[in-house]
Amino acid sequence: MTLYEVAREHGIYIPVLCRHEDLRPSGSCRICSVELEGSSGLVASCTQPALPGMAIHTDSQRVRDFRCIVLRMLLAQGRHDCASCPSAESCVLRRLALDHGIECTDLPSIEPPGTLIDDSNEMIVRNRGICIMCGLCVQACNDIQVNNAIGFIGRGYDSTIGPPFDRDLGDSECLFCGECVRVCPVGALTEKTSRFETGEPGLHKVRTTCPYCGVGCQMDLNVQQNRIVKVTTPRTGAPAPNYGSLCIKGRFGYDFTYHPDRLGSALVRSNGRRVPEDIDEAVREVARRLSAIRQAYGPDAIAGLASARCTNEENYLFQKFFRAVIGTNNIDHCARMCHSPTVAGLAAVFGSGAMTNSIADLERAECILITGSNTTENHPVIASTVKRAVTLRGASLIVVDPRRIELVRHADLWLRQRPGSDIAWINGLAYVLLDEHLIDDDFIRERTENFEAFKATVAAYTPTRVQELTGIASSDLLRAARLYGKARSAAVLYAMGITQHVCGTANVRALANLALMTGNIGREGCGINPLRGQNNVQGACDMGCLPNVLPGYQAVVDDAARHRFEHAWGCTLAGTPGLTTPAMIDAALEGSLKALVIMGENPMMSEPDSSRVAEALQKLELLVCTDIFLNETGRLADIVLPATSWAEKDGTFTSTERRVQRVRAAVQPPGSARSDTALISSLAAAMGSPWRCDHAETVFDEMRSLVPSYRGITYARIDSTGLQWPCPDHDHPGTPILHTNGFPRKRALFSCVEAASPAEEPDEDYPFVLTTGRILYHFHTATMSGRSRGLSSRAPDAFIEINPEDARALGLDQGRRVRVSSRRGAIQLCACITTRCPPGVVFIPFHYSEAAANALTGSALDPDSHIAEAKVCAVRIERVAYTGAQA
Ligand code: SF4
Repeated sequence: MTLYEVAREHGIYIPVLCRHEDLRPSGSCRICSVELEGSSGLVASCTQPALPGMAIHTDSQRVRDFRCIVLRMLLAQGRHDCASCPSAESCVLRRLALDHGIECTDLPSIEPPGTLIDDSNEMIVRNRGICIMCGLCVQACNDIQVNNAIGFIGRGYDSTIGPPFDRDLGDSECLFCGECVRVCPVGALTEKTSRFETGEPGLHKVRTTCPYCGVGCQMDLNVQQNRIVKVTTPRTGAPAPNYGSLCIKGRFGYDFTYHPDRLGSALVRSNGRRVPEDIDEAVREVARRLSAIRQAYGPDAIAGLASARCTNEENYLFQKFFRAVIGTNNIDHCARMCHSPTVAGLAAVFGSGAMTNSIADLERAECILITGSNTTENHPVIASTVKRAVTLRGASLIVVDPRRIELVRHADLWLRQRPGSDIAWINGLAYVLLDEHLIDDDFIRERTENFEAFKATVAAYTPTRVQELTGIASSDLLRAARLYGKARSAAVLYAMGITQHVCGTANVRALANLALMTGNIGREGCGINPLRGQNNVQGACDMGCLPNVLPGYQAVVDDAARHRFEHAWGCTLAGTPGLTTPAMIDAALEGSLKALVIMGENPMMSEPDSSRVAEALQKLELLVCTDIFLNETGRLADIVLPATSWAEKDGTFTSTERRVQRVRAAVQPPGSARSDTALISSLAAAMGSPWRCDHAETVFDEMRSLVPSYRGITYARIDSTGLQWPCPDHDHPGTPILHTNGFPRKRALFSCVEAASPAEEPDEDYPFVLTTGRILYHFHTATMSGRSRGLSSRAPDAFIEINPEDARALGLDQGRRVRVSSRRGAIQLCACITTRCPPGVVFIPFHYSEAAANALTGSALDPDSHIAEAKVCAVRIERVAYTGAQA
């Protein structure tokens, strides 16, 4: 321990400025200096190790005088005008100066050379004029987020902090996670949007959960006059899972909440036009029309799409409405298009389909294998955990991805497989693990079954054959197997690069085989870890927004489970599984599905083959959407109901690591917008089923009484930190690691899966493989991120990544407009020529409505989970002739 740590542990105050509990102490500011008996000079207590027999004076006159000198010198560094500084309230330097009776400095001011203010971007303002060069921002960038975007530049009086080559932040490698803003102890780094707003009366903070990806970062909405003015996280002592870190979306992507496009009233289509309607009348109209359709065609002519964006409480009520009021199991949501293979695959292997370990646990892994996950862009805070495990703790990292994603820079080994060839390389790894006996015999014998059949299957996947099937060099396959197999703890991370295939469920099962054969399950730093895409996709699945299971994954065909819900809800439930999303689209096209209610989803953008989706939606007799914006799907709807955003309602989200966390209302919604809990309850009441669900907590309590894995979780228990399910009773601490002692299906099942080809391969007419995905600056169908000024400024336009070799052959230069077509549709967008994609493979993010990637993708399905193959389809690329307007 250092002297500072010993003092703090014993309640002895020593002021600190450049010390941060998440970072290595640097001893640069010297404000924590103390007197060490027997030593002539003062020592920095934050770096000096405590040794037996030391006698320390923390508050002697000599120490106090020295601190005053240090503070006067720091105040002389730049222009510290507290009266106009937006960070005056939180400034550590100001507080220390006041504590020491210093109001201004008498020393001559020293300013760094060059431009002092950098406001070259929409997110962060850098004021070099008041930077005290403590270096916390550099450490935070390098050691917490591991982005390495800023550093010390120059020497002596000329030294400064910033991106290399003295660039502005806006032109640099900065990813705008804002970690530097969080740790800055003065006002040198501030949020641009709130630059002039802090310090005004009425500012208060509301703790909530990020509305974007499934990491579930905790954040404080800073609210003033019913408006979020900034998002912050505690400077120290922040809770799991993010411990104060955020990415650009979490920290700067909140301004969509007050975008002028927000829906503030209901819209009803009348004579081909959408007209505003009183919200209660619109709800009654929905009820009337749903009742009429049910009367005419039966309950199964109606279906609902729940939402991975909405709270657990809203999703619970949504499926309850369909099952108990309408009388159908036709409920699904966008997990179908992301992790339905995970739910199906891991449930078959372990008996439970969720992330087995925790995010923090990744820092204890000796080896991390990441495949099908562009983690730095899709789950940035998890990516930072991985990068810390590699750079600070020496874990080895294997990346398996057709694209040269950012994590490749940190990897010991990068395997670049052909898109769609995953089973072959995974079975190949298993072959080598068996061949070199890098397996856990005891684990296999005591906790698994079907091992001999599995062995026989993978015997055909020799490294030579795998090289032919995948393009991965056999020597690399051997190295990967040895890294994974020899590690005492090895974790697998994957996402939609694994699941969005016609063999998505088989891919997941193949990955699970690796963990089973090496005993990498049920321990720290191990596991099979699907990274869930959306903020509450785990929760929407847990709440039973799937056609085959009730809340808590209790099968609709299980009589006992169904009777429990019938008893609780006072109704009779259908005992046959309902339609999946693709089956709903088929049923609408053939005419058997008449009505669809969509809560907060946008299938026109998120489902593959979007022209077919549009045709299906237009055939419906009734399409109802509840949403915060009029999105591409809402434009086709008969009735649109205005909903509240995440910042305007109470409830819970369940993150990718099964952590149930609070969401809290911070501002009032626009117009007559209501939470989906309120909208569904009104609808149920209008159809003759008045429920008692006036508050989100009431709904949560009803849900947990029926879902054993949530039973011990209460709002009171998760008030400050979330709990991870299963949490079966009030004394249970939650479960950070699954399967420590056994599996829900008793013995885990080895799966025999064979390599399969994608549904559509390139040919003469369509010679390129298209793969789709997300980018850091946007989220899903960009309904929210596209209306955030900061996020949009970083990635305003659609693009296609194409290898330089292919670009040359097509005669393309950087930024050239191209037409990309598949057998299903065509779009136009700009070429981004990059080696991120291998020759023959192109990538398009699916966020942009003006160039919707899903106009191209196919609807071939994985037979087990009904996920569509969004990661592989064949396309053609042509140059678009320049027009005057484009020029
Ligand atoms: Fe939000 Fe995900 Fe970013 Fe965390 S990592 S701030 S949850 S988008």
